This record gives sequence, C-alpha cells and structure tokens, in this order.
Amino acid sequence: MELEKFSATQIKIVNNAVAVAEELVSNFYKMAASQWLKRKYDFKTGTDLKSQEMVLGPFAQIIRYEGHHPESSLGTSSYDFYKVCLQDHSILETLRKTPSLKLYPFVLYIGTHELIHIVRFSKFLQNFHATSQEKQNEERYVHQTTHKILAKINIAGLKEVFLFYHKWLRP
Ligand SMILES: [Zn+2]
Repeated sequence: MELEKFSATQIKIVNNAVAVAEELVSNFYKMAASQWLKRKYDFKTGTDLKSQEMVLGPFAQIIRYEGHHPESSLGTSSYDFYKVCLQDHSILETLRKTPSLKLYPFVLYIGTHELIHIVRFSKFLQNFHATSQEKQNEERYVHQTTHKILAKINIAGLKEVFLFYHKWLRP
C-alpha cells in the first residue's frame, strides 16, 4: 500500500511547526529544552516510517520503544523512547477536505498534543496501557491542555484548527 507523503516543502513546514511545539510544551511544563524530554522522543514523517508504523485514521501515533544507553550492555539503564509517527496521508487528506485548515497551524496543534502525551507518559501521569475509558478522559485532557497552550499565541489559522477540534475542546 503506497500512502501519500509530505513533499520536501511540506516537511520544512512540519519541522518548523514541531520545533515551535517543543518550545511551547517545554515552557508550559517549565522544563529546559535540554532536560529530560531531550533524546526521549523523535518526530518522524511518512518517508521515515516502517509499514507497521503507519495507520489509517489518526494524524499521528506514538510508538514506545525501549532504548539502551550504549555504555551499558547489561540492560540496567534502559529507557523509554517515543517515536511520534506523523501520518502524512491522513493529514494531507484532511487538509484537502477542510480547506480552512492550513498545514502549519494544524501540525503545530498535532505536535503540541503528542508532546503533551509524551510528557505525561514520562511523568507517569498517564499509563501507556490505559483502559479505553481512561484513554478517552486523557484524550480530552490533552486536547484542552493543547488549547490552553496555543490560545496564548497569535498564529494565523489556529482559530480554524480549534474549530476543527471543537468537540474535544468543549468543557
Ligand atoms: Zn491524543
């Protein structure tokens, strides 16, 4: 199955949006960018994904891998590594269906949202293997926190993204 991927120009926009999302989320959680979030996750787009990392439906999925520090071969210092797999094809399809949405603000929202999940996983505020009810509550919480973070900044097209997610943003 050959899924649509971002063009080189779109990847640049995506990288910029993700960089801003990282800054906003680290500020919100009062973590220096160099602190523990660093090297604990990576954002990947379609070209870098293996077929099992692609899904139909969501705009991104987080896959947890176990990392090992190279200096220890005993496995005592393993750590969680989160790979945020952006689903280019779903994002592009939604942009086509919803012309008011633009790539930059949309990925800024998605990136911020996924980073909040990762912060909460790594602080053990969220269980990676939660029940579906817990996942649903967490999802609402993460959407509302995303909104809280992004509502403070002035970026064209964000209002349209909030509108797109309005079901999750209702109190
Ligand atoms: Zn989510």
